Amino acid sequence: MPRPDADLGAAQRGRRLLRFYLVKPSQYDADGTVWRFRWGVVPNNTLTVLAGLAADWAARRAEVDLQTVLWEELLDGVVSPVVIASLRERAAADGATLLIGVAGVQTGQYARARDLALQCRVAGVAVACGGFHITSHAPSRDFLAAHGVTVVIGEAETTLAALLDDHLSGQLQAEYRVSGGLRARTGLGTIAVPDIETAPLPALDARYLRRFFNPTLSTVDTARGCPFACSYCAVKNVMGRTVRGRDPARVVDWVRQAYDAHGCAACSWSTTTPTAARTGRRCSPAWRRCAPPAATCRS
Ligand code: SF4
Repeated sequence: MPRPDADLGAAQRGRRLLRFYLVKPSQYDADGTVWRFRWGVVPNNTLTVLAGLAADWAARRAEVDLQTVLWEELLDGVVSPVVIASLRERAAADGATLLIGVAGVQTGQYARARDLALQCRVAGVAVACGGFHITSHAPSRDFLAAHGVTVVIGEAETTLAALLDDHLSGQLQAEYRVSGGLRARTGLGTIAVPDIETAPLPALDARYLRRFFNPTLSTVDTARGCPFACSYCAVKNVMGRTVRGRDPARVVDWVRQAYDAHGCAACSWSTTTPTAARTGRRCSPAWRRCAPPAATCRS
C-alpha cells in the first residue's frame, strides 16, 4: 500500500508551500504494539473537517500552496521516528514548510499521540496536538507544552488559520484556544465555541475514502454541543451545552457534491441526540431532491 504522501510534488519557484500532515493517532495494545488494520469502517470526521478548514485558509492566501495529507495511523501505517525523519527530509528537499497536526486525540489514543508528538519534537519537526482529550485534560496539555508541542484547545474553526499563519512566519505559539464566537455553558463553567452555521464543510479525500470497507461512505457533522449533562460524557465540556448547527441547505449541497465528485452514495451524519430529529426535518425536503445518497444518523 503506497504511503498517503506518495504523490506530493515540490514547491514551485517563487511560491510558499505548506505541507500539512493531519495524523489521527492509533493506540497501543496491552503489549505496546501500535494497532494496525487493513481496512477501516467509518472515515474520521475530524480529519476531513480540518482538511476543509485548511483548504479554506489556503484559498484566502494567494501566495501559498497547500498540501494536506490525511494519515490515519490505524490504516496508513505507524508514524515512527524513521517515518518522521523521512517527512522532514523530504519536505526539506521539496522546499516545503512542514507541520504535523496530531488530530482528534481521544483519551484511549493519548499515549500514542503523546509519543508521536514527542518523537516529532526530537526530530525537530513542528507539531500541534488537539482533540477531546487535549481540550479536557489540562495535565496532558501542560506536559505536551512543556516539551515544545503546540496544543489546540477546543474546535479549530477560529484557531486553525492563525496557527497556520504563525507557523509559516516562524512564530508558532505554544497554545491556541477558542476566544471569539459564542459563549456556551459546560458541566463546569462556560467556554467559547465557534458558530458553525456557515463554517467550511469537510473536505473529502479520494485516497482516504478508499481505505475503508465502503469507499462510498462519507461523514459530515451537522451539529455540535449537547444540552444534557451525562456524567461519563465529554461532549458537554468540550463542545458545550449550547447546540450549534450547520446550515441545512449547505449540508445538502455538500452531500450532493460528495456524490458527484466521489461517488459517496451513503452519508453518515454526526449530530447530537436532541438535534437529530430537528436536523432531519430541516434537511429532508432538500435531501429528497439530492437522491441517490442514503443517510444514516449517528448521535
Ligand atoms: S452527547 Fe449524549 S452522552 Fe453526551 S451528554 Fe449529550 S446525551 Fe449525554
